[in-house]
Amino acid sequence: MGSGDVRYREVTTKSALTRVQGMPFAWSLNPYRGCSHACTYCYARDYHARMGRDTGAGFDREIEVKINFADVLRTELRGLRLRELVALGTGTDPYQPCEGRYRLTRRSLEALVESPLPLTVITKGTLVVRDIDLYMKLSRVVDVRICVSIGSVDTAIARGAEPDAPPPRARLEAVRRMRAAGLHAGVLAAPILPDLTDSEASLDAVAAAARAHDASFFAIRPLKLDPGVKPHYFAYLEDRFPTLLPLAEARFTGRVNPERQYVDTLEARASRVQRKYGFVEDRYEKLRDAQREAPAQLRLAI
Ligand code: SF4
Repeated sequence: MGSGDVRYREVTTKSALTRVQGMPFAWSLNPYRGCSHACTYCYARDYHARMGRDTGAGFDREIEVKINFADVLRTELRGLRLRELVALGTGTDPYQPCEGRYRLTRRSLEALVESPLPLTVITKGTLVVRDIDLYMKLSRVVDVRICVSIGSVDTAIARGAEPDAPPPRARLEAVRRMRAAGLHAGVLAAPILPDLTDSEASLDAVAAAARAHDASFFAIRPLKLDPGVKPHYFAYLEDRFPTLLPLAEARFTGRVNPERQYVDTLEARASRVQRKYGFVEDRYEKLRDAQREAPAQLRLAI
């Protein structure tokens, strides 16, 4: 998985904005399908599984480029009445290497500057700094939150688990540059890998680096392993950390999320390091927490 030639297929799309349910954002935007960063744990591999597509090389070596994406988006934005939150990069990295050539993300941002919607972005791509000018324009009229995904600052772990993504150090530098431009940019430590990057020392190292690079926020997400993702993540463990494989298999047998008790322990660790480095929960994380609680509240209301 990862490394080796990547093939690009130019396709046209009928829609750009995808309606999303049960998330803190109302729409998602994904100008590419697949991602050449090739993270072994990438949840978007499961989207390919659900479409009957290959979840290995079919996901990370064969990228679909939706060449008319920004034009379609521009038209759709003009027809919107509600200014709801849109998320860029939920099923692909909008700043994977081919964005340098195709500029679909940049052109989508230009469309958003013309018809602004509040925006949240998630990326591991350092190319994000190229678009600082557009994020600054958009930030003047709507909320913009840029999450740079860094689950660990251990370069060996990052190189194995995220073989073709820029190294954590370069991602941190991107955070620093965006902050220097006055943007709301921070670190999303995601996903946290059980028994590998979930210790308090590991979370502390990421939070300390986030603070040192002036990140606006530090948040975490536990690992989720959908059926289409498991074989790829388990193959990575078998190759690099074989003693951890049985633990992971046991933890995720018959389930996609770790047990609640594990997640609570992880979140308590994250809260301690957040406090230590002076990070406070931002509006997006509060919204996300509220969303997560919503079904329970609904049940109580009934
Ligand atoms: S960068 Fe994001 S979208 Fe790309 S492979 Fe990694 S987790 Fe998936």
